Parts: sequence; C-alpha cells; structure tokens
Amino acid sequence: MIVDVVIFLPIENFLSYSVPEHLQSKVSVGVRVVVPVRNSIEVGIVIDVRNVSEQKEDVTKELKEIIDILDKEIIVNGEMIKLCRWISDYYISPLGLAFQIAVPKFLRTLGKPKYIVNSEAKSEYLPGSLPQQIMEALENQPSELKELKKKFKGQEIEKEILALVKEGTLKLIFEPIKLREKIKKELWVRLKKDKTISQEEILVWQKKSPQQVKTYLSLLHKGEEYPLSDLLKKQQITKSTVLSLQKKGWIELVEKEVLRTPRLYQYIESLENTQDITLTDEQEIAVKDISNTLCQHQFKTFLLFGVTGSGKTEVYLRAIQTAMDRGYQSLFLVPEIALTPQTVSRLYSRFKEQVAILHSGLSDRERFDEWIKIKEGRVSVVIGVRSAIFAPFQNLGLIIVDEEHEHTYKQEETPRYHARDVAVMRAQINSAVCILGSATPSLESYVHALDSKYQLLKLPQRVASGSLPTIHIVDLKLETEKSSADVILSSILREKIQEKLKRHEQVMLLINRRGFAPVMLCPSCGWIVSCPNCHTSLNYHRNDGTVRCHYCNYKQQRPIQCEECGTTPLILLGVGTQRIEDLLIQYFPEASISRMDTDVTASKNRGYSILKKFGEQKIDILIGTQMIAKGHDYPNVTLVGVLNADIGLTLPNFRSSEFVFQLLMQVAGRSGRREIPGEVVIQTFMPGHYVIKTVQNHDYQMFIEYELRNRRAMGYPPYNRMIQFGIESEDEKEARDMAYLLVRYARNSLSQNRSECSVLGPASGVIRRVQNKYRWQFALLGKATKTINRIARDINNHFQTKKTSNKLTLQIDVDPYEIY
Ligand code: ADP
Ligand code: ZN
Ligand code: ZN
Repeated sequence: MIVDVVIFLPIENFLSYSVPEHLQSKVSVGVRVVVPVRNSIEVGIVIDVRNVSEQKEDVTKELKEIIDILDKEIIVNGEMIKLCRWISDYYISPLGLAFQIAVPKFLRTLGKPKYIVNSEAKSEYLPGSLPQQIMEALENQPSELKELKKKFKGQEIEKEILALVKEGTLKLIFEPIKLREKIKKELWVRLKKDKTISQEEILVWQKKSPQQVKTYLSLLHKGEEYPLSDLLKKQQITKSTVLSLQKKGWIELVEKEVLRTPRLYQYIESLENTQDITLTDEQEIAVKDISNTLCQHQFKTFLLFGVTGSGKTEVYLRAIQTAMDRGYQSLFLVPEIALTPQTVSRLYSRFKEQVAILHSGLSDRERFDEWIKIKEGRVSVVIGVRSAIFAPFQNLGLIIVDEEHEHTYKQEETPRYHARDVAVMRAQINSAVCILGSATPSLESYVHALDSKYQLLKLPQRVASGSLPTIHIVDLKLETEKSSADVILSSILREKIQEKLKRHEQVMLLINRRGFAPVMLCPSCGWIVSCPNCHTSLNYHRNDGTVRCHYCNYKQQRPIQCEECGTTPLILLGVGTQRIEDLLIQYFPEASISRMDTDVTASKNRGYSILKKFGEQKIDILIGTQMIAKGHDYPNVTLVGVLNADIGLTLPNFRSSEFVFQLLMQVAGRSGRREIPGEVVIQTFMPGHYVIKTVQNHDYQMFIEYELRNRRAMGYPPYNRMIQFGIESEDEKEARDMAYLLVRYARNSLSQNRSECSVLGPASGVIRRVQNKYRWQFALLGKATKTINRIARDINNHFQTKKTSNKLTLQIDVDPYEIY
C-alpha cells in the first residue's frame, strides 16, 4: 500500500510513502499522518491511497514508511483536497502552502520528537563506540535531537541516530495534538435516566440534607442537564453537595466538549430585526431564481448586480434561509469584518447561534473552535473574510461573495489566490450555488455574465424611498486659478458642508491618501526625505513627529534641515488625512470631527468606536481613507466629499481606472440612503476623464463600455490572462540579468509553441527598490489558460536551475492586482 502525503511546507509536490502492515486498516484519504521527511518528522495529510500490485512491490521497498496515523476522523475531505490541488495548480504555488490554509495551526504541528531506546532491541555495540554512547545517553532520558547534538558536540551523530532508528534500536516518541483532545471539556450534571426516586425518599432526605434535595428538584423541575459551574452558581450550592448526589446515584456527571463563541464587538451585538420585509419585485425574481437552482443541487454562479442600497443583503439572507431549509451550509464572504459590522449584525440577528465567524482577529483557539463547529455541521452559516473560503464544510450548498470586486479578496502572498475565483471553483466542486454581489462588478465577472457563464440578476433601484445622490464635479484646476493656491477644500464643498451642519445632517470626506501623504522637501535644492531601504519618499506623520516608509515601515524623527544643502526649514508637499483634519477644525470650529485611517484603526477598538459614534450621530464629519467607503449604511449622511479623486488614475496599473471608478461609486453610495436626498462633491484635476464622467451619471454601463474597449485594445484582462513575474535581489544587476534571461527563455518557448501568448517586459519594478532589494518584472499575456500556465511553470523551473544564489527570488502572480 502506498499513500501520497502533503506536508505543510513550501514543497512543490506530495511525497509518497509505504504503509506498514499494522496501519493499513486505519489509513484513508484525508487523515493526518506522521512521516519522516529528510532528517525530521512532519505531520501531513493523506491525499491518495493506492494498492500496489505484487509485481511492483519493489517500488514500495524504496519508499519510506509512514510512522503513525493521528486521527480516526478525516481532517480534509475529498472536495477540499480537490480545491487545494486546484489552487496549487492554477496559482503555481507549492501544494503544501495550499493545504496550510485549509488546516488550523493546531493540527499542522507536531511537538518535537524525542528519541528513546527501544526496550525490545537486541543489538550490541562495542563499549565506547558512538552508537553505544548514544544509547547510554538515552537509556533513562528521552531527548530531542537538539539536546543530543549539544551533548555530542562536534560529532556527526545525525547519521548514526538515523541508522539506529532504522534497525529498531532507537524509537521516536512525540506528542502530536489529537483533534478531540484539543477541544475544551466541561462537566455537566444531569439526572440519572433509569433511576426514579420516590416521594417518600425525597421527604426523608429533605430533613437530612435540604441542599441536596433542592439541587435534585431543580434539575427535575427543568428536566434538563446543566453545566456544573452554572448549577453551582445558580443554586448557590457547593460541589460536595453535587458529589454526594452523584454517589447516591440520583444524578450523574458527564464530560462534554465545549466550543466557545468568539466575543463579538459590542457594535455587532446591537441586533436589528428585519425579518418581516416584503421583497420588491426585482428582489423576488432574484430570490426565486437562486432558490430554484439551490433546490436542484446544481452548480451555478449568479452575478447580483445591484446599486448600493438596492437590497442585495436581503437577497443573500433569503438565499441562506432556503439553503438552510434544504439542509445545506452557507458561506458568506465579506471583504473585511471590521468594516462591515452592519452586515454581520444582520446575519446574526436572523440566524443567531447558527452562525460561525472567521476573521483575522480571532485567536488560534477561537479559530479552531469555529473550525470544529463548521466541520461537524453544528452551524449552518459562516461569515468570514478571504481565507474562510477554505472552511471545512461538510455540506456546502451556497457561497456568497459580497462586494465581489473588492481588492481584499486577493491574497498578496503565496498562494496568491483570489477568493472570488476560488469561490466559483469551490461551488463547482461541491455542486453548490455561488452568488457574486456588487454595485460595480469587476470586469471579469461582468464579462462572464455577458458570455452567459454567470446568470445576471439586476436590482437597478434603491429600495425604500432612497434615490441615488446628485453628484457635483469640481474642477480643481479652475479652483486653483481662482485662489492662486493649493486648493484642498473647494468653496462649493465648504458651502455644502456648512449647509449640512446647519441641518444636523452628517458628512463623510474621502481622501485617497495613497502615495499622497505629505512629503518633506527642500525648497532650495529639491532634496526629498526618502527611505534608506526603498526607492520611495517618506511620509510625515504629525502626531508623533516622525517620517515613515509605507512600504517597509521604516521610521525616524523628522529631519530639521536639508541633508544636501543645509537649508531649513523643509516644506511639506501633498495632503494627508491629518492635514485635512486641521483644516476642517479651522473652518468648522463647532463641528465634531473624526478621522479614520490605518493610523487610527491600528488599534482595533478605536475603529469600531468611531463608527459606532458616527452611527449614533455624535460625529458630524468623518474623514477617512477608502475604508470609510465600504458597506456602511448611515441614514443621516447626506453629503460625501471626495477631495482628490484623481489619485490612482495615474498609477501604472491597467486596473487603476476600474479601481477608482469602484471607489468613487461606492463612496457616493454612502450619501442619501433614506428619505433625505444625498449629494456628492468630487474634486478632480481631470473632470473630463471617462471615470469621472461616468461616475457623475451613475453610469456603470457606460464605464464598462469604455473600459472594455481599452482593455481589448491593449490585450489586457479580462480578454487575456496575465501572469506576472517579480524578481528580487540585493544586487540590481543580478535581478536584471535574471529577468532578461527568463524573458529570453519565455520568448523562445513561445516561438516554438506558436501559441497566442506574448511577453511584456522586462522592466524594473514600479518601486525600484523595496527593503533593500531591487525589483525587476515581466509578464505573460495569453488567451489559453492551459498554455500560459504551462509556460509559467517552465519559467519557474528554468529559474530554479539557473538561479545563482538563494538571495535571488522569483514571485509568480497569476491574475495580478498589484503591479510589481
Ligand atoms: P445593499 O446590500 O444592496 O446595499 P441592503 O440590503 O443593505 O442593500 O438594503 C438597504 C436597506 O433597505 C436595509 O436597511 C434593508 O433592511 C432595507 N431593505 C432591503 N430590502 C427591502 C425591502 N424589500 N423593503 C424595505 N426595505 C428593504
Ligand atoms: Zn537642499
Ligand atoms: Zn522603506
């Protein structure tokens, strides 16, 4: 018998092992096993079990044997194995790293193994020989390899130990974490079933021990079982009372597994009840189509295209209810839990203890407990972020990806997967329904809908009385000419803010800080305060008087004078959230103003408390980066201002127009969500840009047409697949030479294949140097997924054989979002 095992390490492929006789009956696909890997021992997952015919028995002889099987139960089921293999394949990422996401940390590690002498071993060694010394050292004291190495300093003991293990003289012991052992236990009290106690008996005991009788009666009365600790507290009795009752045989104590519920933020706990909504006609149609497909247990993807406030969430909730009624589990993906408290709250209020939550704020313990609940079907809905797409569902029927166009679904480290695309694949593997929802669908999804690969469902209108806000465009060039200075807040925006404040309505101001925080500059020679590790300028943070690098987190006190020419003072260029805050305080001294950006939300609760206060209308003006643009539903917001809409439009990324369009549409959608009509003011230097024009008219269709035309002309996604390669080294020449070498190799294999792929580059990275490493990049573009994937693999292999040092690294990004 041979098993293929995946180890949770960056190893490209699985490893094969033979299975010793005594373990053969226990091994199956999906269980954890302990296996030897080179000189160490690792935990892995069995992904295949094969029987080898007798003629081929030699094959098994050459394989190492598995050491042990850890659990009776399957940890990773067949569907998940398929998914992880797909991830590894499609994203050209080591198999071990794909499985790493699917298994909680607790179950991936093995306590360090210790060596002991096998008492049944009979070998004898010459006194004083190395093997003999090792055995003596281990005779009464099991030790880790590290301890042994220390003891035998300078001697080559590793080989010797392996040999001793092989012949059975030494054994390995380790304390692996068993699944059920890791679950916390609690004592419960319950009545003994088969035991009836007569009235007389009770009366007799009533006198002798009233406490005991009181306890017994309370259990009898409730007819239920109780956690011991609860009972003690509620009845104010001691443990000895309970123990005497147990001795008498009236009650019994049983151990139960407890899975805790992560504490939810107070904000989320303020539940609203929206059960009795009557659906609009469009919602009705969407719900019906989705429900029908759910009932057929068929794979299908829907694109729910609905403007902000059109009632998409209500459609999701109904779909989840249908899935639940049919006995299916559902997964609800959101871009970020912290920024979607309202969605979480609505889910909890409707489905209560049926909900599990997965996000990065959980402790390993909490994450493990949620994982178990999902795996054992104790919950039917999971709300979570990106990585929740790997949750261990047993019976998954529905996956929802809310705000499917969001950036955060793309993981920017290996495996560089996109949760939306993984969601569609997982739905396909599970014959489940997938709903992608957005007010501004990604071009990828929209094109799939046009091709009828996805079914399009539309919610074109806001529910309730809300209508879409009026959008005013302010030409900053004209404004600047008028006032002959840098304009941060145009006069129109200032007037509108004043007007809203007077009416006690609320204002949100978006500043897309990216690349535009204040830069420190020498006014006489142009010297810029820049990062010593990266090819980029440092940003001034006023609250602590430092300058910081947003790429490597380098930080230093602000310089006082120019390092080139000694001029002082240095001046600040650009606009950051902190500066806006100052300005607003000057203009509107009576208003209550708050700022929300990553500096603030670095402390978790600050972010929530700001949003909470804003919801309670204790804040008049909320300033923030893109994080205020998402998902919030604040009825009293009637003005949204965008201070610098253009940032991002000029970034060297073919997706930048799409990103800016989505951001502007989203933030505009925060305004006027109820009866009072909303307004939006967008300040821009490019009022004629098609992104600005289409946002002004809320015209997604027009934007898509423009954008698709551009993408088609350039051969960019979604018309072609793109795979981006990033090469990094401390030595710039080394990185550049490798980039050229790989590009030559790629062009060569393309011409041989006569395929429809092309190579872009090489070029130096967008930021030339990050954390002291120089970056070079190139990309493959092509129609046929298979071909382009194969060539990318060849390039990867070629790199592995050609790389001159370990400091030279290659990063492969399939369907990239960030430009390297
Ligand atoms: P979206 O997710 O598309 O932004 P929501 O589902 O959050 O929209 O709906 C916006 C608001 O309208 C919510 O407060 C929701 O409870 C309410 N709502 C949704 N559907 C209806 C309906 N059919 N009738 C009345 N109110 C609705
Ligand atoms: Zn200078
Ligand atoms: Zn830096």
